[in-house]
Amino acid sequence: MKKKSKNTIIGLFVALALIFGGGEILNSTTDTKVTYNETSGQTIQNENVEKEESTQTVNNSEDNLKVHFIDVGQGDSIFIELPNDEVMLIDAGESSEEEKVYNYITNLGYNNIDYVVGTHPHTDHIGGLEYIINNINVENIYMPKAVSTSKTFESLLNTITNKNLKVKVAKANVNIISSDNLNVFIIAPNSESYSNLNNYSAVIKINYYNNSFLFLGDDEVLSEEEITSDVGADVIKVGHHGSDSSSSLEFLNKVKPKYAIISVGANNQYNHPYDSIISRYEIIGAQVYRTDLNGTIVATSDGTNINITKEK
Ligand SMILES: [Zn+2]
Repeated sequence: MKKKSKNTIIGLFVALALIFGGGEILNSTTDTKVTYNETSGQTIQNENVEKEESTQTVNNSEDNLKVHFIDVGQGDSIFIELPNDEVMLIDAGESSEEEKVYNYITNLGYNNIDYVVGTHPHTDHIGGLEYIINNINVENIYMPKAVSTSKTFESLLNTITNKNLKVKVAKANVNIISSDNLNVFIIAPNSESYSNLNNYSAVIKINYYNNSFLFLGDDEVLSEEEITSDVGADVIKVGHHGSDSSSSLEFLNKVKPKYAIISVGANNQYNHPYDSIISRYEIIGAQVYRTDLNGTIVATSDGTNINITKEK
């Protein structure tokens, strides 16, 4: 990577301070480079956001939870139709996949996204988000308090600012939806700072009646070990594209998934997913699906049963 000038980096921190700002609680962090207002996800308000008139007419009338693991090659993008008729997008792949993600969402009939999560600032997760935010009305955006000096990340922050959105901090114990039978919440990251950007990845848990889904970004074993919430889930979006940096046996024994979805590109330069990790999931009894082999994968829950369909 080319070295950034000091001014560029200072500029980025100022931008971050503006975007994450607005909370009542001022915490100084252990990271001496960045200090800005921090607040939990629940308390930041988008008071000055001019909402576009929503013409969304899609009605998920069957009360199903429908999770689309979109095939974006080497990267992650998961679109979720919630049973309360709201929708969520976790990541949007590389920027080369932005139109595919956009078309996928709009072909389902949506022109509004209630919740966007950028799990962490790597381009295979946030690369397509700028285009999505520019072309689909986004109500709420969650990202971990992680810093990257990549052009993609800086440009995304500028877009968020231009749209008058405020980033809600994604970290453990932030509730996105709390109701009797549907709960969407964040269970990681649990620390303020990590040496590896992957470990900042937001981990999302969805509980719907008797079914649970667990969405790991690129979290590695360190983050897995820090999670104190119940991670038991029927479906897991496997961490870090099936690398052995993640998916410790200890963690998988807690999750006990029936289905493991790996979002990964064919013939990628990282040799993801590792055979040893696929075996690990199979040994604990999970059925493994991969976007490189199966294309887009859709998991539908009625609250009791989960049905998986795949493109190929
Ligand atoms: Zn990744």
